[in-house]
Amino acid sequence: MSNVKITDKEQKFQSAIESVKKKSDVITWSLLAKELNISRQRFFISYNEFIKEERIKKKAETLAKLSEILKQKNITLISTSYETLKSKLELKCPNPSHPTYFFTATSIKHGSFSCPCCPKPKVGRPKKDGMAIAKAIAKKKGGVCLSTTYVNNYTNMLWHCGNEYHSTWLAPLQNVHNLNSWCPECARSKN
Ligand SMILES: [Zn+2]
Ligand SMILES: [Zn+2]
Repeated sequence: MSNVKITDKEQKFQSAIESVKKKSDVITWSLLAKELNISRQRFFISYNEFIKEERIKKKAETLAKLSEILKQKNITLISTSYETLKSKLELKCPNPSHPTYFFTATSIKHGSFSCPCCPKPKVGRPKKDGMAIAKAIAKKKGGVCLSTTYVNNYTNMLWHCGNEYHSTWLAPLQNVHNLNSWCPECARSKN
C-alpha cells in the first residue's frame, strides 16, 4: 500500500503526473515540484506510485487481451499476473487429463500457445511421392523404373539398368534406395 499520505497536494500531483507522463523529462519534473512547493523526492515517490499503478492496469489489460486470443482456441489462461512479457504464463487446454503448460505473453501474441499434449493439427505435408523417387533413383543409376504405380517402399517394382542386354528385375524401392542394390546382372559382371 501507498505510504504517501493523501493530501490536497495529492490531487495536484495527479494532474502534474499526467503531464509529466506525456513529456517525461527531468526539467519538467523539477519545475512541477517547485510549482507545487514540494521536494523533488516527494514528487518522485508519488510519480513512482502512479507508474506502478499504471503498470498494474496495463498488465491487466494485456492479460485480458491474451485471454481473449486463447479463448478463441479453447485455451484457458490460468496466470493472473506476470513480471515481464518474457515471463511464463500458465495455460490449460480443454482436455482434463492434460497438465497445464507455459508460454510467454510474446509467444501467445505471435500465435504459439498450443498444448504440447494435444495432437498437432495436420499440416498439408504432401505424401512422399514414391514413384518420383523411384524414377529419380533409377535415372541417377543410368537406368529406368518401369513400374507405373508405387504402393510402398516394400512392394516390388520393375527396374531396368542402362544395359540393353540385361533383363528387367523386381525389387522394392527400399532395396534400391536405402540398401543401394541395383541390377543383379551388372553386379555379377563386376565380379
Ligand atoms: Zn492438451
Ligand atoms: Zn544391368
